[in-house]
Parts: sequence; structure tokens; C-alpha cells
Amino acid sequence: MKAPVLVINCGSSSIKYALIPDDGGPRLEGIAERLGSQEALLKAKDSKGQRHETSLPGADHGAALEAIFTSLDGHAPVAVGHRIVHGGEHFTRASRLDDQVIAAVEETSALAPLHNPANLAGIQAARALFPALPQVGVFDTAFHQSLPAHAYRYALPESLYRDHAIRRYGFHGTSHAFVSQRADTLAGSGDHGWLTAHLGNGCSTCAVWQGQSRDTSMGLTPLEGLVMGTRSGDVDPGLHAHLHRQLGWSLDEIDAMLNQRSGLAGLSELTNDMRELEAAAERGHAGASLALEVFCYRIAKSLAALSCALPTLSGLIFTGGIGENSPTVRAKVIAALPHFGLGLDEAANLATLRGREGRIDAGSGPQLWVIPTDEEGQIARETRELLELSA
Ligand code: AMP
Repeated sequence: MKAPVLVINCGSSSIKYALIPDDGGPRLEGIAERLGSQEALLKAKDSKGQRHETSLPGADHGAALEAIFTSLDGHAPVAVGHRIVHGGEHFTRASRLDDQVIAAVEETSALAPLHNPANLAGIQAARALFPALPQVGVFDTAFHQSLPAHAYRYALPESLYRDHAIRRYGFHGTSHAFVSQRADTLAGSGDHGWLTAHLGNGCSTCAVWQGQSRDTSMGLTPLEGLVMGTRSGDVDPGLHAHLHRQLGWSLDEIDAMLNQRSGLAGLSELTNDMRELEAAAERGHAGASLALEVFCYRIAKSLAALSCALPTLSGLIFTGGIGENSPTVRAKVIAALPHFGLGLDEAANLATLRGREGRIDAGSGPQLWVIPTDEEGQIARETRELLELSA
């Protein structure tokens, strides 16, 4: 395996990893989950695609990382690339993780209290285990630091921005960067403007002009914007006060409802899983049909709004578990944008699934692409570029 980079994505009780070689060869990847409990488990895929499970009772992030390292069949990484959710305004690109940079990541934890502390736990564990290896942080927010002020500022008192960094940041940056760069390559030379839709459990849209993010649907937190699996996306900001005054709900209750009991799951009263929703809608389940309609309409509405950020539109890109696998969602979104002059090749749409990349427009009007995202690959690439590791 040529000069592999170990990519790590740490959650509060999990570590997703991928060992990615420089030559596009097979990856070793897996996930350690339920960390901190007696049921902690490492699920690993070797270079032949065989799956292995190892029980790691009581393992923390450090012990799990050691087990991951042991499972790498002797392939030693040349660097570690960490996914970090929030980089605030400090980080406009990937950064080498020295003491000063780690302190800056700690400072931004107030903006992502659920995510950044878990990312930091992974960084500390990896530094302890691989003290000689360069470690790089790649931030979900960094790609969106090119937003102009008119796109990133909320219409709130200036002091909230000045003194407390309250503004729109955007997330899923590695995914929007990856698919728009790939579309630039596929579409060939020219100044390209893309509208990208990352549709997974979390969902966001982005307007990318000449390789730079110009606007995006997520904001201060990953709750703003589209309808998601269990997240509401945009609601009237007056909702919080209304629920508090009329129903006596606390802020924590409202926050939990908006993040965990809303979105597709809340609307359908059934599930957050798009596969199940599509099947239930086919059977005539009214909640599932409504969830699907609201989901697709809100994506189209967001794309139409973000088109204001682009001087010209080269095309739309669908990615993420739903964007890559649901011809139904793609067709509904496209049908809800009647003024864009989009033409869908229905056969190509139906055939582009399960990790396939493909163009699904009928040849006139803006291009329509399905591009499987590769956030791990993008993190490895940015790590190499920063460290100048690639040939
Ligand atoms: P992600 O977070 O990118 O892994 O995406 C998860 C979402 O993708 C879930 O809502 C899944 O139901 C959805 N998904 C995965 N496969 C399919 C499929 N074949 N058809 C529709 N949705 C799918």
C-alpha cells in the first residue's frame, strides 16, 4: 500500500476510519462503536473486502485506536487526517494539528458542543499513539469560509457577531468540495457554477462558483435549512417562544424535539429511513407520502434560492445516501424546479444507483449529475496536499 493516510472521524462513542493509499488502491476501513461500554466493538474490512469483528469491552478512544492500528495488517500510515466538524472563523483550510491549532479547535467547541469535543478526543488519542506522525485537521466548515458577508450574516444585532461569532458557517464542506471538484473535471474546462445537494441522514445544499462555496443551506449549526432524517431544518424562529409560552417547554426540550424527533421521522410518524418511507408511500401511507413531498419541495426551494449566488448555472449534483440512491427523490426535486429548463433522462435516472456516478440529464439545459461522495478520500487528499506528500 503506497504512502497511506489514516483518516479518522470520531464521534462521542465511535471512531470511523479509513486507511487510504496514494495510488487509488483498495482501502482498509471500518468503525469502532459503543466506545466506553462493555459492548464496544471493532468492525473492520480488510483489503480483500472481508469483514472482521473484534470485541473491545470497556475500550475508550485510545484503546480503540490501538485496536484499529493492530488491524491494519502492518500497513503503517504516513499521516493522520482528522475530520473536525467546526472550525469557526479560524480555519479556512486544512491545518496541521500542533498545540496552538488544537487550542484554537478547543476554543470553537462552544459552537459545536456535541461534536468538537469528540473530535478532540480522537486527536489526543492519535497524538499519543503516533507521536512521530504528522496530524492534520480537515474542517466541515472550512470550504464555506469563502461565503460573502451578505450570505453568512444573520440579520441580528451586530454585537452578536462581533462578540460571540454568531453567523452562518455551513457544514458538509468536504462533501460539497469533493463532488463539485469532480463535476468540474467531468464537465471539462470553463467557469462552472454548481448547485450541490448532499442528501443523507443530514442534508444540505451548496452553491459553488469556480470551486468556491458562495452560499449553503446550513448555518450556525447543522439544524438550519433542509428537512433531514430527524432534524426539522428551517422553522419560524418564533416557534421557540411559542412552544415555551403555550406549552411550557424548556429550551432543551425544544432543541431535542427539533434535532431528534422532527424531519422525515416527525412528519411521517414512521421512520427517518428513506427506503422505508418510499416503500410505505407506495403502499399508500399518508404520513410517508407527506414526508416525501415536503422533503423534495424544500430541497427544490433551497436550490432555487441558492441559484441567486451563481452568475451562471452549469448544473445540479446529487450525492449522499439518498441523493445517490433515490431516483424518486431526484425526479421529484427536478420536477419542482420548472423554471430551470432541466430535462431528466428517466432511464439514466433509474439506472444510476449504488455508488454509480452518472449524468442523468437529457442533453439540453443545465447538466444533472449523480456523484457518489467520498469525504474520507477528500480528507486524505487535503492532508496530503497540506503536507506535500503526493508525488
Ligand atoms: P447517509 O447518511 O449518506 O449514509 O444516507 C442515509 C440515508 O440514505 C437514509 O435515509 C437511507 O434510507 C438513504 N438510502 C440509502 N439507500 C437508499 C436507497 N436505495 N433508496 C433510498 N434511500 C436510500
